[in-house]
Amino acid sequence: MKKLIVIRYSEIALKGKNRHWFEDTLVRNIHTQVSPLETIKIYKIHGRIIIEPVGNIENITSILNFIPGIANYSIAYQTSHDLAEIRAISKSMMQVFMDKTDQKTVRFKVESRRAEKSFPMNSIQLSQQIGGDLLQEFEQLSVDLHQPEISLGIEIWQKDRCIVFLEKINGQGGLPVGTAGTVLSFLSGGIDSPVASWFMMKRGCKVIYLHFHSYPFTGEQSRQKVVDLATHLNRYQPKTTLLIVPFTDIQKAIKENCQERYRTILYRRFMYYIGNQLIKKYKALGYVTGEAVGQVASQTLENLACTEDAAAIPVLRPLIGMEKAEIISYSKLIGTFEISIQPFPDCCTVFQPRKPEVHGNIKTLQKEEQFDYSNLIQETLGAIESITIDEKSPKLYW
Ligand code: ATP
Ligand code: MG
Repeated sequence: MKKLIVIRYSEIALKGKNRHWFEDTLVRNIHTQVSPLETIKIYKIHGRIIIEPVGNIENITSILNFIPGIANYSIAYQTSHDLAEIRAISKSMMQVFMDKTDQKTVRFKVESRRAEKSFPMNSIQLSQQIGGDLLQEFEQLSVDLHQPEISLGIEIWQKDRCIVFLEKINGQGGLPVGTAGTVLSFLSGGIDSPVASWFMMKRGCKVIYLHFHSYPFTGEQSRQKVVDLATHLNRYQPKTTLLIVPFTDIQKAIKENCQERYRTILYRRFMYYIGNQLIKKYKALGYVTGEAVGQVASQTLENLACTEDAAAIPVLRPLIGMEKAEIISYSKLIGTFEISIQPFPDCCTVFQPRKPEVHGNIKTLQKEEQFDYSNLIQETLGAIESITIDEKSPKLYW
């Protein structure tokens, strides 16, 4: 009997006229992520995406679990419209469940959906028929339509196809990556920025990572940490780019030309000056940072205003109202925590001011910046390292 993976999508269904485009993007993302590992046939039918696996199902589902836009999916068996066959597969699936459980009683329901109206029973009749059969066969079962512990799903499709499944496995939810435009995400080696990147991928943004490093003050290990973070995060989206920007010369120039207490804000403003030059090339519509109000001196509302003043596109801060403990729990959930806590220095700890300004003022900062840095920006842009992030089975950290 043929096994299929039946994928249900999230909010895509709400998108009206754009629906096909959303669906096709999701199909393309699934295909791109899965096909290097497993050969599959993938298509849309009756508001579902179907994968016909050729090889190992676990390999495929281990990837599906990370793809934004998937609400849930089921491993299903395909039969014909023949009622005897539907009964037989329903019983054997329930038998497999019963063999695994040690529960004395199990509340269940059968949920049918009939996309092919020529099938002789309507969906309620079919559910009652199969439900009755299962009740007779397994004495542990009792019907509970409102709070069942398990649901057996039956869908009658066109062309004499019927699928039966027992479990819905939750996916990431959200929207398919690529449906909400591209963002440049400021990825430090810390805990927050990977979480911020993940939130934006779940909202359908393609994330390009931008990292600033201060070689030789931050070493190869700091750089590798960021490559590891980007690689790990890329389980959630198809191939992307990590841009590594050498920032030491700019930091030195700021140290030499500006008042010490403004350094951190000025570093941030210069990160945007670099980013602003990359917007066109990468068609970026927004920046993403891991900032949260009041978390550190550079993240007071005044200082956030001072840094974002330098940005030419909107600055998106998905963590803005979260406390650290909450952010940490997300970073554990997505598996970046263990990488983030590796103790390698970040560029912003280099030449740190002893007493950073907490209440920055845009006019003052603009005055501080009045030294000639245009060559410096051009040289830095020319020295950016671009790394393609396309790892299919990165090392797992949890
Ligand atoms: P994180 O844990 O993400 O590093 P943080 O609490 O350490 O955050 P800051 O160091 O103030 O906060 O950085 C705030 C944000 O600025 C980061 O979340 C990140 O988006 C961006 N950022 C900081 N340093 C860098 C860097 N070296 N390269 C790229 N982005 C950076
Ligand atoms: Mg940081």
